[in-house]
Amino acid sequence: MSYDEFEFETRAVRAGQTRTAEGEHAEAIFPTSSYVFGSAAEAAARFAGDSPGNIYSRFTNPTVRTFEERLATLEGGERCVATSSGMAAILATCAGLLKAGDHIVASRSIFGTTTVLFSTYLARFGIETSFVPLPDIQAWEAAIRPETRLLFLETPSNPLTELADIRALSELAGSRGCLLAVDNCFCTPALQQPLALGADIVIHSATKFLDGQGRCVGGAVVGNEELVGKDVYGFLRTAGPCMSPFNAWVFLKGLETLSLRMRVHCDNAQQLAEWLEQQPAVAHVYHPGLESHPQHELASRQQQGFGGVLSFELKGGKDDAWRFIDATRLFSITANLGDTKSTVTHPATTTHGRLTPEQREEAGISDGLIRLAVGLESVNDLRMDLERGFAALAN
Ligand SMILES: *Cc1c(COP(=O)(O)O)cnc(C)c1O
Repeated sequence: MSYDEFEFETRAVRAGQTRTAEGEHAEAIFPTSSYVFGSAAEAAARFAGDSPGNIYSRFTNPTVRTFEERLATLEGGERCVATSSGMAAILATCAGLLKAGDHIVASRSIFGTTTVLFSTYLARFGIETSFVPLPDIQAWEAAIRPETRLLFLETPSNPLTELADIRALSELAGSRGCLLAVDNCFCTPALQQPLALGADIVIHSATKFLDGQGRCVGGAVVGNEELVGKDVYGFLRTAGPCMSPFNAWVFLKGLETLSLRMRVHCDNAQQLAEWLEQQPAVAHVYHPGLESHPQHELASRQQQGFGGVLSFELKGGKDDAWRFIDATRLFSITANLGDTKSTVTHPATTTHGRLTPEQREEAGISDGLIRLAVGLESVNDLRMDLERGFAALAN
């Protein structure tokens, strides 16, 4: 059954499900590695690709397919393939679409492990990457070479919440014969649909907001039949980083509450960002929902909500940031995000700790910077927890 005529929230709850003869209401989990055929001739036809159907769970699995179909419709893509992790989704995209001699232009503000994948591992196979400042369209244009095949970004960026104009970059990519891939982990399709803005590929770490409760590691790639259904899937079924049926089921349940959760993540983050801006110990707050954000207007146009992640800079340096973090009781000290539980991170000594001080300064990661991934607790309790942090500075 097609769910195209229904709105986002309805598709998030219902799309992709096919009931078995048992008539189960919730989606079934199919923990099976292989599938049986009715006859030798049927087995041969399946293997030859002449008859559709399951062969082996590295290729297809009914629970995984339900997740893929549901996420595909939420992102507005023809096809989705699920992967064992977000990194596997990025690897499968690059391995499926690129070859030695190709060139990538990537935002310099992407997930740290993605930077390592590009600059260390893909480089070994003859794929070079240039890194550019995310919001600077001239820099993207200048970095494109004849052999550039892929533009890659996340928006908003982590932890400083800078934005890229996806529409403008998709036009640039199209005019120069490149593909545009957007890692949509921070917004999810509930807040931003890059394919509708002209992107070719959407990538997810399902580990974050799609799960939403910090349980499973997984990922996904969404796009058209040719790029994702043929090229990315072809690599995936051969190389093997597929999603397990149990994880697919957990992510399906996550999608059912995605809109509701994102709304509260956004509301809580907005309230805390506005409150933090009033605090005398704070030098600056980074959140696209603030009027003071230099790309607030773009965020209002491009996103249907401003997101659950924010950062702020204490006037004091590292010692104050650590004192602040250690004084909180509710916020979990962890680098993860997209969980019901709020988390607090000191980027300079964790996620960005391997950069040199000069690289950190260039990236805008000061010693006093603190990142919050705002969860679904009471926003009053979260504010009181941050007050404990400020109280620890007052000496
Ligand atoms: C976490 C994350 C990834 C990697 O995902 P895993 O599921 O941990 O492999 C990629 N991109 C972004 C933006 C992330 O936050």
